[in-house]
Amino acid sequence: MSSFRVVVAGRPNVGKSALFNRLLRRRRSLVHDLPGMTRDVLEVEAKLPDGRSYRLLDTGGFDPEGKEKIPAAVREKAVQSIRHADLVLLVVDASAGVLPGDRATARAAREAGVETVVVANKIDRREGSEGEVEAWELGFPEVYGVSAEHGIGVDELIDAIAARMPRSPVEESAEPADEQTGRPSEIALAVVGRPNVGKSSLVNALVGEERAIVSEAPGTTRDSVDVLLKRGGKTFRLVDTAGIRRKAKTERGPEVLSVVQARKRIEECDVALLVFDAAEGPTAQDAAVASYAHESGKGLVLVANKWDIASPAFAEASGEIEAAVRERIPFAGYAELVRVSARTGRGIGRALPAAARAAENRRRRISTGELNRVLGRRLRDAPPRTARGSRLRAYYVAQTGVAPPTFTLVCNREEPLHFSESRRIENILREAADFTGSPIRISVRGRSRERASSKSKVRSPKARGSR
Ligand code: GDP
Repeated sequence: MSSFRVVVAGRPNVGKSALFNRLLRRRRSLVHDLPGMTRDVLEVEAKLPDGRSYRLLDTGGFDPEGKEKIPAAVREKAVQSIRHADLVLLVVDASAGVLPGDRATARAAREAGVETVVVANKIDRREGSEGEVEAWELGFPEVYGVSAEHGIGVDELIDAIAARMPRSPVEESAEPADEQTGRPSEIALAVVGRPNVGKSSLVNALVGEERAIVSEAPGTTRDSVDVLLKRGGKTFRLVDTAGIRRKAKTERGPEVLSVVQARKRIEECDVALLVFDAAEGPTAQDAAVASYAHESGKGLVLVANKWDIASPAFAEASGEIEAAVRERIPFAGYAELVRVSARTGRGIGRALPAAARAAENRRRRISTGELNRVLGRRLRDAPPRTARGSRLRAYYVAQTGVAPPTFTLVCNREEPLHFSESRRIENILREAADFTGSPIRISVRGRSRERASSKSKVRSPKARGSR
């Protein structure tokens, strides 16, 4: 069992147990988080999605100030477990705002000198997003807005735990597919496209670039070889470069074979570079490959190659190619188009930076506060329409994932949005932040019955002001 200890700490009733169970990926409560309940520190083994495990400790009601609520012995144990933690998850109730008990817990974590991230829970409640913003005031570098009850934001928190855990060498070799999580700085690129568009020439041009530091690494699929390329402080992994160069097979085979290959490469990548011949423009097959990248939530850069022979042929080639691309690949308007010549090297220098932007934007996060500022009003003024034509009431919106950025609207009902509505919301999100190169996902979640009926119990802003 791993010795990495993650301690869940916070006042009673902030939702530590619910979070604890979410992290364990269990639905029902193991324990009840009643205020003043005297219980010992609970310790279990929790697993990350990639199979690594850590120790998860729930300190019970850690309430340094509510002296009569929590017996001294329990409090002392909580402090002890914080001291021995590798990471503290300081849970606060975002709907209640930051209270003295939260500050006291923060102080205890700070005094222990243990790395701490703040978890602002209950962001599904009416004042949740305000409380999430307020939670920054506790002075820790990261705040994760979550709804433990609804499972919102929990994946990002798990990512944050994973990013802090050491990788054991055994796991590293046993699970090469998870390498990305262990090395966030590496960007996996899939160079895809039909035969003869210049994929291998492009790879050679990229690899041959000045200042590029190149090495080979075993690929994630059997017998495949990846090329690692260092540029501009970033490491790019060109997936299955041998496969790109080993063209004889695909050349003779049917075109579908190159689609199959492209799909395999795309599965392993963060960003797909779809190469096409600028003189021909993208074909239906290119659109199919682009849509695969889109559906898989991967970044996308469109590379118009052979620009050296295309430009004299097209008088206004630049505009024409842009128009052709947008017409034939309409669903990926977010993808940058770069014009290159693998032969002369012209424009090549723009390909990797575009890929790096796509990779970065694909991991971009908008805080719940910011999201509700840009979207909240517009969703209230024009309630989103469902696929069936009825209107939804959106209570709030949260970013529930990255890679690709995923947004969840918590509404009165759970029903898919009308596509034009998804488009409208996507446009607003793209105005609010730079998601160039990356697809965006938008989903609807219904507010639970229980939550809807407890609405009246949510404190009004006035009540909060009196704390
Ligand atoms: P792949 O099958 O996609 O890997 O394509 P290759 O890289 O093997 O290129 C196919 C052919 O196109 C070769 O004859 C290349 O020399 C040529 N080619 C590749 N890139 C360019 C380019 O930018 N300009 C021109 N004029 N020819 C190119």
